[in-house]
Amino acid sequence: DDPAPHRAEPLREWRRAPVRAAFAVAVEDGAGDAVRDVPALIGGEAVTTARTIDSVDPGRPDRVVARSASCGASEADAAVAAAAEVAERWRRTPAPERAAVLFRAAAWMRAHRDALAAREVHEAAKPWDQADADVCEAIDFCEYYGREARRLAAGGEVESPPGEHDVLTYEGAGVTAVIAPWNFPLAIPCGMTAAAIAAGNPAVLKPAEQTPGVALAVVEAFAAAGLPDGVLGFLPGRGEEVGARLVEHPDVAVVAFTGSQEVGLALNAAAAVHRPGQRHVKRVIAEMGGKNALVVDADADPDQAVPIAVRSAFGYSGQKCSALSRLIVLDRVWDAVVPRLVDAVRELAVGPAQEMGTQVGPVIEAEAQARLREVVAGAGRHGTVALARDDVPGDGFYVGPTVVTEVDPASPLARDEHFGPVLSVFRAADLDEALALANDTDFALTAGICTRSPSHAARARDELRAGNVYINRDITGAVVGRHPFGGHGLSGVGSKAGGPDHLLRMMNPRASSENT
Ligand code: NAP
Repeated sequence: DDPAPHRAEPLREWRRAPVRAAFAVAVEDGAGDAVRDVPALIGGEAVTTARTIDSVDPGRPDRVVARSASCGASEADAAVAAAAEVAERWRRTPAPERAAVLFRAAAWMRAHRDALAAREVHEAAKPWDQADADVCEAIDFCEYYGREARRLAAGGEVESPPGEHDVLTYEGAGVTAVIAPWNFPLAIPCGMTAAAIAAGNPAVLKPAEQTPGVALAVVEAFAAAGLPDGVLGFLPGRGEEVGARLVEHPDVAVVAFTGSQEVGLALNAAAAVHRPGQRHVKRVIAEMGGKNALVVDADADPDQAVPIAVRSAFGYSGQKCSALSRLIVLDRVWDAVVPRLVDAVRELAVGPAQEMGTQVGPVIEAEAQARLREVVAGAGRHGTVALARDDVPGDGFYVGPTVVTEVDPASPLARDEHFGPVLSVFRAADLDEALALANDTDFALTAGICTRSPSHAARARDELRAGNVYINRDITGAVVGRHPFGGHGLSGVGSKAGGPDHLLRMMNPRASSENT
């Protein structure tokens, strides 16, 4: 039977006290969890390694949350061999069967939604609503790509003249290495893995070092869904070791990567090298960083624009690829918008992700904290520091929300992705200047405008060079099936996760023509 059309998983109604109370119990339960052991998965077997990697609670770094295997080249080779062995069988598994596995994986995550979101609170320091939304997105990816696999099984449209039967079909391209970041610790690894599996490819997933305990849920969900052994491999470990080996492996046909520009470009170069025994040109899906702009137009409503800017810039402490880092305010509304923005940022609740009201938690790790504190300390060289909060907890990897105005557009503050709670604000005389400033970046991920003018909204839609353009709403929070997500420029290759183009990137098209 055809499944019902895809509908995004409904987010929780946090305003309801029973919803909050139920989630508080899940967070409390998660706090009592023992250190989670995270083995590798190779050919359906759990595998441990002599070396291990600890991941910690970013709000309480003395607390180890998970202890993962630390895989290297030999584990990568074994997982790819196991995947290659089942590749042909999985490619030929009918799309409805592949889809059914994805739907069962989604059902398992739905049934464990609270506990999974609580894992994110403890290991990734995601505030409650963001953690829950991440689990919903993972569920959505499975539901959406399952339907996509079924849709693509019907093939593409080609002409068949009289006396000829012409067909265009799509099939899995082969073993897919999935290399994931920590910032959407379930949605991104699950989404890229689900896409590969839906497309008919065995997947070998390398999760980020910081969040293996959350990523383990991908293994648990697909095991519960009855995915055959070997179709999913799981290799926690260091990127430069196990990740690099996966990318180089001659039997890997597709590399699906989401992460920083630096690593994405390096992987692209490594995958371009043809190696002995390799029988294909590797395809790289690289989704990378952003330096995303929001324009506040001269007629914008400050009551709307300020909360949009604050949520977009400081949600998950600015650690989203889609996060706002460049706010461009038209001169005419500067005085109505900027002081109000600074006041709003001053009021943000900074604290442990475990606490219900927290809006800005710690950043992911000590290294990020040190780097961001340096950015804040040097910000005065590139603009006027309007606010640099220092009222943050002493333990944990906290960075005070910071707003810098009149930033020099040529400075590193304006140009580099800092991936933290630091917002640069620019002044523009008119819309032309604002759009030019917004587009003056190597990245092209998200962008937006707050305006009451339909013609300015239309101009922004046409002229903002970004993969995702948002009008009068937050520039974060893409929903699977509604807002196919991803950038171009140096932000990515335009593979658009959660959209109708995505699976085709992992498939080979084949045409056949029969003389009838
Ligand atoms: P990252 O440092 O690039 O790491 C991403 C993944 O690559 C990790 O699993 C990492 O392993 C692995 N890796 C590192 N070096 C490698 C190598 N030489 N060979 C193979 N794999 C390697 O990025 P991150 O800090 O986790 O994530 C933040 C970045 O991701 C930001 O730039 C953000 O904008 C971007 N992002 C983009 C999107 C999008 O859709 N465009 C979405 C989310 C995040 P280790 O963990 O062991 O280092």
